[in-house]
Amino acid sequence: MDQASNLPQVLQANRHFLATGTHAGAATDSIPERRLVIVTCMDTRLVGLLEDAMGITQGDAKIVKVAGAQVRHPFGSAMHSILIAVHMLQAREIMIVGHHDCGMRKVDKDVFVKAMMDNGVPADTIRTVEHAGVDIGRFLERFDNLYDSVRSTVSLVREHPFLSGTGIPVHGLVIDPLTGALEVVVDGTNASTPAI
Ligand SMILES: [Zn+2]
Repeated sequence: MDQASNLPQVLQANRHFLATGTHAGAATDSIPERRLVIVTCMDTRLVGLLEDAMGITQGDAKIVKVAGAQVRHPFGSAMHSILIAVHMLQAREIMIVGHHDCGMRKVDKDVFVKAMMDNGVPADTIRTVEHAGVDIGRFLERFDNLYDSVRSTVSLVREHPFLSGTGIPVHGLVIDPLTGALEVVVDGTNASTPAI
């Protein structure tokens, strides 16, 4: 790893940011004004684009970012964030936003294992973890079809036992990471008739 650290640059930017004093301070609090939780991918192209394309500004929504915008574990960290947003922070609507050309659609176990070794992870360590029962293929949670993946996450969230009886709509959308165009896959206000 010979990549120079970003830390000095970030701290320099921070000093400049504070010195210019253009940020007004806490204009909002931790309660999402639009009562909305968005679950989307960590893709770099979505940084800033997703908010602009959805008309979301600071204070409007909780945004949970996970690779592939996938929620696969009912009691994992992504679902934990959603449940905290709903039950502790007054969120009343959930949007799952996948995107075209997502890296999680292509990720391959063998390629991933080779990349780990190229990055210095010892082969023995990888074998030990596998022998301990970790299925790396399953762990990667790659998906073949973006729309199916979004539908699957919508279902898992909508049917979560800790959301039962709340009536909170769970929508599924797909965004184009180049243009920001949105497509509705599941309209949670009328969940029985998916748009696609
Ligand atoms: Zn992605």
